[in-house]
Amino acid sequence: MFPVMLQLAGQSCLVVGGGGVAYRKIQGLVAENAKVTVVAPDVVPGVVTLADDGRIVLERRPYAAGEGAGYVLVFAATDDRGVNRQVFEDASGAGIWVNVADDPELCTFHLPSVVRRGDLHLAVASGGTAPFAIRRLRRMLERWIGPEWGEWLEAAARFREKVRGLGVSSVSREALFDKYFETTVDPETRQIRVPTPHEELGFLEGLGDGEREDSNEVIITGGRVEGAGPGMVSLVGSGPGNPGLLTLRGYRRLMSADAVVYDRLAASALPCDLPEGVELRCVGKSAGRHPVPQEEINAMLIRLSEQGKRVVRFKGGDPFVFGRGGEEAEALAAADLPFEVVPGVTAGIAGPAWAGIPVTHRREAVRVTFLTAHECEKDGTQVRWDLLAQDPSSTLVAYMGMKALPVMVNSLLAAGMDPETPAAVVERGTTSAQRSVISTLSDLPEAVRQEALDPPALIVIGPTVRHSNSLNWVVRRPLAGRRILLMRGTSWEEALEYAGAEVVESSLPLTPAARVVLEALPLTDVVVASREEVEALDLVRGGVGWGPDVRAWCVGPESRKRALEFGWNRVEWAEIEVAGHELVEHLAAESVRVD
Ligand code: SAH
Repeated sequence: MFPVMLQLAGQSCLVVGGGGVAYRKIQGLVAENAKVTVVAPDVVPGVVTLADDGRIVLERRPYAAGEGAGYVLVFAATDDRGVNRQVFEDASGAGIWVNVADDPELCTFHLPSVVRRGDLHLAVASGGTAPFAIRRLRRMLERWIGPEWGEWLEAAARFREKVRGLGVSSVSREALFDKYFETTVDPETRQIRVPTPHEELGFLEGLGDGEREDSNEVIITGGRVEGAGPGMVSLVGSGPGNPGLLTLRGYRRLMSADAVVYDRLAASALPCDLPEGVELRCVGKSAGRHPVPQEEINAMLIRLSEQGKRVVRFKGGDPFVFGRGGEEAEALAAADLPFEVVPGVTAGIAGPAWAGIPVTHRREAVRVTFLTAHECEKDGTQVRWDLLAQDPSSTLVAYMGMKALPVMVNSLLAAGMDPETPAAVVERGTTSAQRSVISTLSDLPEAVRQEALDPPALIVIGPTVRHSNSLNWVVRRPLAGRRILLMRGTSWEEALEYAGAEVVESSLPLTPAARVVLEALPLTDVVVASREEVEALDLVRGGVGWGPDVRAWCVGPESRKRALEFGWNRVEWAEIEVAGHELVEHLAAESVRVD
């Protein structure tokens, strides 16, 4: 078998047959802009639509012997072997490449299974001998090679153009390409990233002066890149805290940033594999530290951007929902600097969802109000208690409200709201540390006091809160409440996550970002599978997120031995091979607090 990639745009192809299998082939050919003729008496509706749209020529009749001349490729996918054979003989006799679906003997070419990521095509084939294996392999590759590879390849193509424009020797060119590849691809974990403009310039700068024709084009001075223009600030929402609720675009912006300016609430959603060289600045409140005032944050964003850097301003939930993202955007606009907004999943929707509370529900809640409870306590408040209290078909979601809760409840009751209205507080929604109480409006402050719930938390008031009784899906899962540290590259992550755990997946050595993530919330378990992992993790053991109760699940005797030598607490022994569900069973047998 000799693999080739065919340029089919404008080329005539014949498909005999109009069922599901034929339809998939037709779709593939149409996507390549081939000129497709379909011959079949009966066809599935998708084929008719393509014909109606003028994308293919459809001839609704049986195949006639001798057709096929004039085409570059012929496909047969009918359920009649006689017809298929006829098509094969006609085409192959006329020297035309032919493929009969599911009949390797009647094929002069086979179609590989393809994973496409932009211009990157990964094709796998078995020469028609074991299509089932190929299908499974393709699914595996699809998971390994994510959409970010397309972007990476595009950036690589741009880099190639730049390098070619330099007019350097082929040896230097290859050295630059090596540098590019080694810096952006981690062969162990298959993680890739697009290099920042800074890095790219750095690669090009690395060339000897004699090698470059236009050596005055780009100069890096003290962190500022001249010739690179102003940078870009992306105001990125981190989502409510659970790492999986960060958007794809947000992830990509982080991975290609020069600097990340983050809030405490966003910390747990930082990618652990954020490249080592990224400047990480925490501007949120943390124990013993005052938050950086808003004016200083604005000034910092402006300064970093003026240095030509790609900056991510990483904010909890959505940047424009009670996050002062609007003010930051205004400051950037006033300074005439480019910025963009990458929305995030706001806690006011995701927190209730994780507590089994739909914020709207047919015939029950047809409106949602987001309120900052800070406002409640102010004199001359802008909050219209009268309107909120008189609106039984709505959900009221209050942010930043733990201190103001009693005032808020009294104000609503005084304005005539039914004291029996279902009400809830959700603390640290969507994270492994989530806790919630469900009550009635009038009893809510006392219920919250008894459970000693703390910020960050949301207050949810409205009829749909009662669904929490039947829809509280989170706490039912066997690993609810567990935050598990796992090394990247194992196959267990998915099973643990489906079982309800929050999985922190990291590579070794731990990056600065991974350390921030580890400290953001308490861990409950660590899974280690080698001596090296134990040794590397011992350096962070006992840190803020790694309390004495953390269980270490050792896979394999080596890791257990090492953990015991290091004096780790609660070393457990997990006799497992590869299957994630076995690990889940081990972990679930040791259930921890579930609220
Ligand atoms: N921009 C954010 C809100 C910032 S205001 C968003 O869109 O979600 C901070 C308040 O958000 C907190 O006081 C709390 O009320 C709420 N909050 C943020 N994350 C939360 C979480 N995981 N669980 C519960 N409340 C949360």
